[in-house]
Amino acid sequence: MTEPQLAPPRRYAPYDRAGGFDRSLGHPARRDLPFFAARMRELDAAEAFPTEAVARLDALGLPAQYVPARHGGTLDSYEDLLQLVRVVARRDLTVAIAHTKTYLGAVSTWVGGTAEQAQELGARIASGAVVSWGLTERAHGSDLLSGELTATPVAGGYRLDGEKWLINNATRSDLVCVLARTSPAGGTRGYSLLLVDKALLADGSHTCLPAAKTHGIRGADISGIAFDGAVVPASALIGEEGEGIETVLRSLQITRTICASLSLGAGDHALRIATRFGLEHRLYGKRLIDLPQAHRALTEAYADLLAMEAVTLLASRGVHTLTEEMSVSSAAVKYLVPTTADELITGMGQFLGARSFLSEEFAHGLFAKLERDHRIVGIFDGNTLVNLNALINQFAALARGYRAGRTDAEGLAAAATLDAQIPVFDPARLQLTSRTGNSVAASLPRGVAELRELVTSGEAPESLLTVAEKLLHISDTTHEQMAAHRPSPRDVPAAAFDLAHRYTLCSAAAACLQVWLRNRTTVAADTTATAGLWQDGLWAEAALCRLAERLTPGTLPEDGADGSAVLDRLMPLLVEQYDSGEMFSLLPFPLAEAAGSLAEEAS
Ligand SMILES: Cc1cc2nc3c(=O)[nH]c(=O)nc-3n(C[C@H](O)[C@H](O)[C@H](O)COP(=O)(O)OP(=O)(O)OC[C@H]3O[C@@H](n4cnc5c(N)ncnc54)[C@H](O)[C@@H]3O)c2cc1C
Repeated sequence: MTEPQLAPPRRYAPYDRAGGFDRSLGHPARRDLPFFAARMRELDAAEAFPTEAVARLDALGLPAQYVPARHGGTLDSYEDLLQLVRVVARRDLTVAIAHTKTYLGAVSTWVGGTAEQAQELGARIASGAVVSWGLTERAHGSDLLSGELTATPVAGGYRLDGEKWLINNATRSDLVCVLARTSPAGGTRGYSLLLVDKALLADGSHTCLPAAKTHGIRGADISGIAFDGAVVPASALIGEEGEGIETVLRSLQITRTICASLSLGAGDHALRIATRFGLEHRLYGKRLIDLPQAHRALTEAYADLLAMEAVTLLASRGVHTLTEEMSVSSAAVKYLVPTTADELITGMGQFLGARSFLSEEFAHGLFAKLERDHRIVGIFDGNTLVNLNALINQFAALARGYRAGRTDAEGLAAAATLDAQIPVFDPARLQLTSRTGNSVAASLPRGVAELRELVTSGEAPESLLTVAEKLLHISDTTHEQMAAHRPSPRDVPAAAFDLAHRYTLCSAAAACLQVWLRNRTTVAADTTATAGLWQDGLWAEAALCRLAERLTPGTLPEDGADGSAVLDRLMPLLVEQYDSGEMFSLLPFPLAEAAGSLAEEAS
């Protein structure tokens, strides 16, 4: 009998690049390197900024990755950026949040600035300048249209007066992108963005506010900045006067998508600590991992993480291919991924029991740290309710698009086919609202029909179709309820938030199905460990079961005749990825922990 022909392992460039980046950061167990796990905890306890780790990221060229290639940097794919931030976040969220802030500070210039401004800022960032983003004010939180910091026209420029508070890197940054009121009446056209070079301000015209003490990311510079007659040149204005709010809203569509990488990294870290404990800890004569409930807790977390990876992948590739729909996809991702990761981390805390509470002794205290650190991801850059509200505002168009089965088929296929080339991102295509709805969510009926055919031809299991059809029914009902929603700009009813939450889960189900359908034959034929996840629709079925369970508790099928529920079948793959030092991921993603790398580095 001849051996079946297996394809050589397929390479996925963003995973390869980020895996290589992780390996160049060195094994987290190496005491002599800046990312040594215990060092991260010590810095956190001392509320000290992780200077060495940040410098290491600078030395490895991460800042250039924040600058689009057309402006002189190396950023040509948001999927790349997503994976790079993910590997930093899986080590330490303080470092990831402190470093990536420069991208957030710069994005408005990429979206709304002139080519000259972008080129100049790109060069500053590539040579090490830190940029922060000053939107929020002490009294106004998410309500940007109440901002009181003013920019008043004066000869040759603008005079800034007022304060921005809780601003990441406000003190450490060289430049701050500030949202300022330029029209006394305010309103949507009453604000402008100014890129302030702190070194050029007259003495005494600005003060950096003391760093706030925080629950998590304790070493980060979460401070603020106050201006008192600070004059900036007219060239500091990004875009036209009055375009500030619009540029911010368009920029947030990218940053909210990228924020999901912080949650994916934190989720990986939490599951890694728990898996190690589950394999090593013994109770009642067995390994903890072999107790059915413990086993299930890990596989549920794994399935949730894989589902969120699929959702985030589609959204980050969609930055390039479904750009006009990003007002929807970014809000859905920024709501769902951090919320799911918070739940995952809580679940892993229960799994670890008392050890989750130890701030030094177990896993260098890093579980307790990441649990605290991750709380912020759902708060900044638009908190969970703000993102749900952004979806509620678009219910009518989303329901219409779904009913009509309206999808950008080409854009969706390019986003979901993971080895397909994606076009260069064009920020001019970003829209404040999506006129076409959401191609991902609207693809569910057609995706399920395609799956039905695969089941008929024996290429997909009946059990996957069963859960997909259940989700299709829920999605149909959810969209009908969204269509019936009566918009009210103020006093949005609580039920609408619940509906928006359900919508994000339906959209996630559609995303998982698309990612599985478009890549199932290529990845499943690989020789890598991840291939097993794709065979017989395993990960997709597990992910859909989890989403269905969250939408309608009690949906998860009971153990099959052979006694192995779909989640249980994930366990060997979870352990294999852990043992081989790979990211918990849908695709091959070797990290610094990969076999032999500690020995290699040490030699
Ligand atoms: C560590 C950290 C770092 C930060 N970094 C930055 C930064 O770099 N730049 C910057 O500009 N800001 C930054 N912020 C500020 C942060 O982005 C804002 O605090 C946040 O977006 C506003 O949310 P809030 O919960 O603080 O306040 P609020 O918006 O006042 O919210 C208070 C409550 O009202 C609810 N709420 C708000 N809007 C709605 C709505 N539409 N419908 C229903 N309920 C609603 C909220 O969910 C919350 O429960 C940072 C904050 C922290 C803690």
